[in-house]
Parts: sequence; structure tokens; C-alpha cells
Amino acid sequence: MLRGIVFFTDSYAREEVTVFDTTLRDGEQTPGIAFTFEQKLEIARQLSEIGVHAIEAGFPASSKAEKETVAAIKKLGLDSVICGLARSTKGDVDTCLDCNVDMVHVFIPTSDIQRENTINKSRKEVLEITADIIGHIRKHSDLCMFSAMDATRTDWDYLIEVFQTAAGAGATIINVPDTVGVISPSAMKTLITRINKEVRCPIDVHCHNDFGLAVANTIAAVEAGASQVQVTVNGLGERAGNADLAQTVMIMESMYRIKTGIEKTRLVETSRLVSRFSGIGIPPIQPVVGENVFSHESGIHSQGVLRNSATFEPGIMTPEMVGHRRRLTLGKHVGRHAVRQMLTDVRIDPTDPQLDAIIEKVKAIASRGKRVTDADLYEIAETVMGIELNNKALDLQDIAIMTGNHMIPTASVKAMVNGKEHVFSAVGNGPVDAALNAILGISPSRLQLREFNIEAISGGSDAMCHVTIAVEDEHGRIFDASGSGDDIVLSSVEALVNAVNLINRA
Ligand code: MN
Repeated sequence: MLRGIVFFTDSYAREEVTVFDTTLRDGEQTPGIAFTFEQKLEIARQLSEIGVHAIEAGFPASSKAEKETVAAIKKLGLDSVICGLARSTKGDVDTCLDCNVDMVHVFIPTSDIQRENTINKSRKEVLEITADIIGHIRKHSDLCMFSAMDATRTDWDYLIEVFQTAAGAGATIINVPDTVGVISPSAMKTLITRINKEVRCPIDVHCHNDFGLAVANTIAAVEAGASQVQVTVNGLGERAGNADLAQTVMIMESMYRIKTGIEKTRLVETSRLVSRFSGIGIPPIQPVVGENVFSHESGIHSQGVLRNSATFEPGIMTPEMVGHRRRLTLGKHVGRHAVRQMLTDVRIDPTDPQLDAIIEKVKAIASRGKRVTDADLYEIAETVMGIELNNKALDLQDIAIMTGNHMIPTASVKAMVNGKEHVFSAVGNGPVDAALNAILGISPSRLQLREFNIEAISGGSDAMCHVTIAVEDEHGRIFDASGSGDDIVLSSVEALVNAVNLINRA
């Protein structure tokens, strides 16, 4: 692909396009999110491990705690460039430099609306401040990113002047933020093409998702010659968020064949880590990382996928590439091939009429809007085929759980494991966690919990609950099972024991 002239002046620019992650800044600006100190360090570590080139660790001048966090992230000694954010004041910049960051990211509003209503400076004054502050930064730091805040709504002639001033003063990269998410991809392409022509400096973009165009605008900027993209994990950020890391990386790598240096096989894992820390779940239909992205239900689709997965998947993006998994799900459209395959996987071999009867029962459950788990399928097969598959590897005898405000939740279990009595106890973050840890600890094979879903069937504190659990074994095989009842802990235990027994029979 032909792109504009790209200047690699930055020491970390090894790839065609570098990835600058702002999860720790924009994520924190997401309403309802406050990462703990430890979580921020872990996110930074993860980002660095997957090859993110630069990490914006925070805004040191905003609070003492933020300053300590940025300094601590820098002290981790990660491979990524560690950047701190600063307003265009010496005070902010010096606080940032105190953290020993590799790069200072300085910003100033340039659109008339933001300039007049926030800093109240003239266009000329903004140019002077820009030159002064970048000069000051470059005396102390090799890397300086300059952002013209609200760039896309700034008068473009003036914007060029601002960027030329920044480049002339020593900015090592200029950032073009679409601060309120209002540009279109074609306008972004025009803007970046012009900046690339008239300003001698590498270009970075920061796009917001108010109209759902953050990723598209980021890609348009890359097409026009931007050499760095700003992204966040799961698209976190204020309002509708920012360009998503996984989507942006996969579009560049798979569709444009642009090297990013990101370890793509860890995208799903990274997304899940940040989802857990942020408390913001990943919608099942979220591109690249969502639960449904490589799931197939309908008959024709799963038949095609079983022969060649590219029939009903992009092909240029596979679950293996992004650390995901392909799943055939049981639903009201389920086809013979998929069911036959799922049963063969666990050495169940129904005759054709038996298979028809099994499918009919699966469809009946699914059309009532219920999820049909693997465990349900095997139970149906047992009934239809009149066989007893249930030689339980794990037969739970007793479970006791203790929890309270002054104790660590603890669970003890007694179970027959392959016919021999075992006891085990474990602690956890809460009673459910402790109970599941105890079951996993006593399980005859090493398993990892992959999914835990709980729904209350009716309101009120005596509500019935339905727990669905998916576990993965050492071979990467995943099975799901469910449990229900009026006790949340025991329903969870039932679901897990069912899943454990499935996996040990497979
Ligand atoms: Mn922003």
C-alpha cells in the first residue's frame, strides 16, 4: 500500500505503524472506572509484554497519587516508552519530568471554541506558548509529543501553523486529536494528507467514538500517512470512548498488511484483563474479542465452517491469530453436522434417527430462549440413546463454606475422585470464588475457569439463579455446563462439577 512520507525520528519506531496506548489515561476518564494502583501496573506490564510501543501512564500533575503511579510504572523498567501527560505549563511539565518519563505529551486547545472557553488565550498566544513549552521539554527529554487539542474543529490553516511551530520547536511527534469525535474518515484523510505535506514531523492520531467512527478515522489517518495510532483496550474512554486497540491492530495487520509489532495472539487475553479490572463487560458482538466473533450456530454456517473455517469467517482473521477460540453453539437453528461433530468429540455415536431426536430436543429448549450447554446436549443424548454416560469422575459428597466480614472466605470439599475419597479446602475473594477454587483444586484434571455467568430468574433476595460455567482443559478444549437453584454458591458448584465431569469423560 502506498502511504505518505513517514519520518521515523523516534527511537522506538521499529514498525511501520507504532501503537500508543492511552488506556491508563482515557480508561480513567471513563465514568465509573477507577483502576487501583496495582491494576495500573499490571495493565502497563501487559501492554508492554504484547509489544505496545508507548504507554501513556497518566497525568502526573492531576494528583499526588497519579504522580506516584506514573513514577512507579516508569520504575518497572518495561520495554515500552513511558509517557506522561501535561498541560502546556512549566509546572505540569516539571511534575511529569519528576517521574523520569521517557516522553512528555503536552497539549493545548487550538479550536476557537475550546481556546476561548478554556484557556482564554489568543491564537498568537497559543503559538508562543507552544514554542516555549516544547523548547522547555526538549531541554530535559528526547521525546516530546505535542497535541493540538480539538484539532479537527480547529481552523485548518491555523492548525498547520500550530503544528509547524511545534515541529520547529522540537516536537518529535505531533498528535491530531479528534477530541469530540466529529470528523469523517474521508475528511480525516484529507486533513492528515495536508499535515503530512506541510509539516515535517511524524503524525499520531487520537480518535473518539461519538459517532462510532474512532477506528475508521484512525485507519483513514494511517492511509494518509500517520505513523502512530492512539488506542485503548476495549475502546475505553470518556463518552463513547476511543479507538479500540484490538480492532485497530487487526485491521492494519490483516487488511492492510501493515506491521505493528503487536503480539496479536494476546489480544483477547488483554481485553479480558482490562474488562475484569474496569468492570465493563465485553459485549458478545464486540469485534475481534467478543464471545460470538468465532461462534457459529446455524446449520448451513456450521457445516461450512467445519469443512473450511473461512467460509463464514473473514479468513484473514482467525481465532488462533487473536487468541480466541472457534465455537459451535447449540441453538434453535443448529444443524446435523454440528451436533454430530460435538457428540463425536466425546465419543458418542448416535444413529441417524437418534441424531434427529436429539436435534429436535435441542431445538425445543433453544426456541424457549434458553442456552443449551454441552452438558444439556449430553444429557439429551443419554436419554434418547438410552445409555448411561455418567461415570462421574468427580462425585461431590460434602461442601462447607465460611464467609464473614472478618474472615477470608474459605470452602472445604469432600468428594469421590475416580472412586477414591479426597478432601480439599481453598480460599477466595468471596464464597463463590472459594467454593469454585476448592472444586478446581480437587478436580482430577487441571482446569481453568473460562466463563462464569449468573442470572437471577426472578427478583427479590430469594430469587432463583441460573449459573453457566465454561472450563478449559490443558488441551484447550472448552466445555460448558449449568446449575440452578435458590443458593448462588451451590448453583455455581453444581455447574462447575457438571463441567468437570464432562471434560473428564471427553
Ligand atoms: Mn481524548
